[in-house]
Amino acid sequence: SLMDGPTRRAGAVAALQGFKSPIRAARAVMDHTPHVLLAGDGAARFAAEQGLAPIADPDAWFTRAGQGEDNHPPGHAPALAHGTVGCCALDDQGRLAAATSTGGVFGKLPGRVGDTPIPAAGVWADADVAVSSTGQGEYFLRTAAAAQVSWRVRAGAPIDHAARAVIDEIGALGGDGGLIALDRHGRHADPFNSQGMKRAWLSPDGAVGVDVFGR
Ligand code: ASP
Repeated sequence: SLMDGPTRRAGAVAALQGFKSPIRAARAVMDHTPHVLLAGDGAARFAAEQGLAPIADPDAWFTRAGQGEDNHPPGHAPALAHGTVGCCALDDQGRLAAATSTGGVFGKLPGRVGDTPIPAAGVWADADVAVSSTGQGEYFLRTAAAAQVSWRVRAGAPIDHAARAVIDEIGALGGDGGLIALDRHGRHADPFNSQGMKRAWLSPDGAVGVDVFGR
């Protein structure tokens, strides 16, 4: 899912199979339909109509869990076991946006939908805050995690306190994960209660930071 802060427009796909870039499909839902979320076969038909690139050879495209140094199945290296990619951005006009994409969690039931395609849980952007979540999606759904960061900021909390409070709430429920959050002043926060969370940030001066563990 993705969300555009100034307009509060959002787009998402769930249970979509067979396309190289689900986030492009989410973007197309936002830009070219009156809807926010398309799922399953309908999402696939829509993606095909939009001309999005299909995955011609699944065996060549996917790496199975456990294959490769950096692709541990859950239980081996929990912090690195998810496949989420998320991004928050602030442009030079002060506009925020966020996007999140994932293959879900290892061992899920068929039909399981996590937080990633649900604005307010896996993604959020408004005039003040952009957020992208990763981790055990059920907990992010149960806490409206991404939107909750924004509500806390609007209630006066600095972004790092707001983001940490949401992760603490998830931890108190027994969940783990993390999120990245950015406010309209360019302040960012990246709390997590998992073992690690791969993350990077790019500043206006071109400086790049990266981190996995720490905090
Ligand atoms: N949040 C995702 C989900 O629950 C998993 C992930 O972070 O990769 O589907």
